Amino acid sequence: KERNANEPEFIQAVEEVYSSIAKVIAQHPELESSNILERMAEPERAILFRVPWVNDQGELVVNRGYRIQFNGARGPYKGGFRFHPTVNLSILKFLGFEQTFKNALTGRPIGGAKGGADFDPKGKSDSEIMRFCQSFMTEMFRHLGPDVDVPAGDIGVGSREIGYLFGQYRRLKNAHESGVITGKHIVYGGSHGRKEATGFGLLYFTKAMFDYNEIELSGKRAVISGSGNVALYTAVKAREFGIKVMAMSDSGGYVYDPDGIDIDAMILLKEVQKGRIKDYLLDHPAAEYIEGFRNIWSVKCDIAFPCATQNEIDLESAEKLVANGVIAVCEGANMPTTYDAIKYLMDHGVLLTPAKASNAGGVSISAVEMTQNSMRQSMTFEEVDQVLNDIMNNIYKDSLEAAMKYGYGHDLVAGANIVSFLRVAEAMQLQGDY
Ligand code: NDP
Repeated sequence: KERNANEPEFIQAVEEVYSSIAKVIAQHPELESSNILERMAEPERAILFRVPWVNDQGELVVNRGYRIQFNGARGPYKGGFRFHPTVNLSILKFLGFEQTFKNALTGRPIGGAKGGADFDPKGKSDSEIMRFCQSFMTEMFRHLGPDVDVPAGDIGVGSREIGYLFGQYRRLKNAHESGVITGKHIVYGGSHGRKEATGFGLLYFTKAMFDYNEIELSGKRAVISGSGNVALYTAVKAREFGIKVMAMSDSGGYVYDPDGIDIDAMILLKEVQKGRIKDYLLDHPAAEYIEGFRNIWSVKCDIAFPCATQNEIDLESAEKLVANGVIAVCEGANMPTTYDAIKYLMDHGVLLTPAKASNAGGVSISAVEMTQNSMRQSMTFEEVDQVLNDIMNNIYKDSLEAAMKYGYGHDLVAGANIVSFLRVAEAMQLQGDY
């Protein structure tokens, strides 16, 4: 804690994992004696660099770029780039730490990493985005490789940015190493189903949990925060499962539609027109727009899907959700629920899916994209979707079994932490003291 005193998000993430493995460590004294907890909480490498670029006014702007290569014991470092003004070392270390465990849960041979920049893509022209991505990759490329470190997208980094980043990498390396980055467009080595994978996977995981608890998913009402990649495809699959989505948000506020959100209109607005969420009202006069993104948790629902950002459900939001009779909180974003809110929800009998398990669908299909790139083959959407469904059901089963085995009942938060911790720990132990 002292060593990372200025990194609250990172400390929060480590405490959340380590609080649920005490009983595991007690049964594995060899892990304690090799100081595994301290080793695991220190990134293998953290790279920090200057990203100079020229804006449309001809001015030279400087941003700060990062890559945290957190843990490579199970495979090449793997994790997305985030471009957002809030990016700092603490946030990327928390994300890299979480990613290490999430990636282990998928069962695929990938390590954990995260990176990005404190660059704000909002309001930037297409050519500014391209110049920024090119400058970012001009430093980053020397640290990447299909067997070294394989980034992907995250907040502020979608298909367009991945294209510019890959294009610059290819130019600098003079090689079409398609497995160096995932989330690529289908025409140059991307995988069918990657765009949908995190949201669809979240619903497959949610369905496994509802089935186990013998609760019907169809007919439930949901609130989904965010309206980016994860939120939109969570909404699409929720609709397919018969769930009515009442509200969605962006960082400015949320829209509530008494008839249920028109998902196709939302995809058009956010993915194609790149508009703000309040513009939804232009074609949907019955809907309401309310300022303040956290207010969305006042909307009555059976299932809350936080799919925007970290710590968006605090204790006050959790209290509102419980007062409105929420059955489940299913995490799409990384660490969207504060520690005290998690405790409050669980103490009040709310079912909770931990992000590192329930949002692992995206990276799972990224790993499938890497496999296709290595084999120079392409799978169909249906094949990829089946693999995704299987992986999410396995993660659910593994997490539940681990929770029960180590005396945590049906606590999926503890179960997911235990499975992933043991997998990473074993890989590290087998490779000696490092
Ligand atoms: P996008 O950039 O596509 O969308 C993010 C959404 O969240 C936007 O609606 C954005 O609103 C909102 N948002 C972002 N930051 C904040 C903030 N500080 N406060 C309030 N709202 C905010 O990102 P993704 O959908 O890809 O990612 C969302 C979450 O899911 C993140 O936590 C990410 O780490 C996690 N995740 C993503 C995966 C993926 O495959 N994409 C995989 C696993 C996890 P606005 O447009 O106004 O900024």
